[in-house]
Amino acid sequence: MQKIPVLQDPTPPLATDGKFHVRLTEGRFQNLRRLTTWPLIALYFGLVWIQVDGQPFLFFSFEQRSIILFGSALSWHDLPLLAGLMIVGATLLFFIAVAWGRVWCGFACPQSIWTWLFIRIEQLTEGRVNERARHDHQPLSGTRKLRRLLKHLLWILLAFLTAATFTGYFVPVREMMADGFNLEMSEAMLGWLTIMTALTYVNAGLVREKICLHACPYSRFQSVMFDENTLTVSYDAKRGEPRANQRNADEDSGDCIDCGICVQVCPTGIDIRNGLQAACIDCAACIDACDNVMDKINRPRGLIRFASERQLEGLTSKFLRLNLFGYSTVALCAITAVIYGFTDTKSLLVEIRRDRSALFTQLDADTVCNNYRVKVERFARDQELIKVSLSESPKFTLYGPDTINLSDNNSSWLPYRVCISNPDKQNTKLEFVFTGNGVSTSKETSFLSKLI
Ligand code: SF4
Ligand code: SF4
Repeated sequence: MQKIPVLQDPTPPLATDGKFHVRLTEGRFQNLRRLTTWPLIALYFGLVWIQVDGQPFLFFSFEQRSIILFGSALSWHDLPLLAGLMIVGATLLFFIAVAWGRVWCGFACPQSIWTWLFIRIEQLTEGRVNERARHDHQPLSGTRKLRRLLKHLLWILLAFLTAATFTGYFVPVREMMADGFNLEMSEAMLGWLTIMTALTYVNAGLVREKICLHACPYSRFQSVMFDENTLTVSYDAKRGEPRANQRNADEDSGDCIDCGICVQVCPTGIDIRNGLQAACIDCAACIDACDNVMDKINRPRGLIRFASERQLEGLTSKFLRLNLFGYSTVALCAITAVIYGFTDTKSLLVEIRRDRSALFTQLDADTVCNNYRVKVERFARDQELIKVSLSESPKFTLYGPDTINLSDNNSSWLPYRVCISNPDKQNTKLEFVFTGNGVSTSKETSFLSKLI
């Protein structure tokens, strides 16, 4: 598979003074962007409020050292499930990168989405791109000062809502809101919210594309993943060059009229006509902008389009490739395993530890006891009452709670004592049995009755 060159350090043409204004455009890809962006924003702000049977839908609890995912509590026992979810995410991202370049960045990455929201607020308060650029070089009038103030206030408000929602995935959101309304919020919480608000404000309002250009590792390794069949936003130089504005165009001129609109709409300030660049986030704004220009000058759309290197050479592109097959196979296996893990309501997670402070306790001349600590956790919420017993060991007697109520005792250790009269061996095996709702799990441990 032939790898294609990606420019790593392009010079953004509009970023000569370190600042440029992005022109918002309209078109089919921007509509598609709305279709992906708004549901993701709604999910982010909405999920934190959703509860399943009294449990949050998604919650990261430092206190209980567990994650609640889809209403089910995961603890360290469930690390394979989390690993499975990460494998699903990573392989899907690789698949998308190989098939369609950085569309994740352009259409779903939080950095792009929040930058896009902040630019919308900027346009709403300070006007369109030309107006904003013009006023950058003029003294600010009273009205403009007010408009700029309003912009920053709205930015801070959005940054605060983002920070509070993010915090709500780690701290019970209703209690946090109640504390806020009653002015009883702790200093630590206030400090955290202030830092998160400031980070969001700086990130999406001021730094913006510089994160994509200089901090995001994805833009760097995408160049390794692209191949000649990867569909990515590309300028058709064969069709567009030699570029000439409409006044100077002749029959040898290409379709590009050098209007520069594709550069003005680019959120990272690059010129896609220079070739594939690491700074391009595949947002397709330049496609929509150029299509609008082509419509106006009665030329076919698609001078800038999603195309592979082979398609730009006039060859056909292959979608089904070995690496895509590999990624999709791994993703499917991981998805199947994760679904099985989440729907397996039969499993109980049991841990038994023998008390090591005393190897055994001699109650009287004939009776020896061992002490244990038992912890039972469950994945499914319907196994609330679990019976505890010993398997087929009539000589052993179990002391301790014979029923564990998981809704009360989930994640806590319970003390048990097992005794035997006239033991015939110094070290023997012992099996604890846990039953509830037709589910039975057993766990073996050892029983010591004499010093070795
Ligand atoms: S928008 Fe299209 S026509 Fe205008 S400069 Fe860009 S590529 Fe050329
Ligand atoms: S070059 Fe086009 S697709 Fe790439 S970031 Fe700029 S506007 Fe988006």
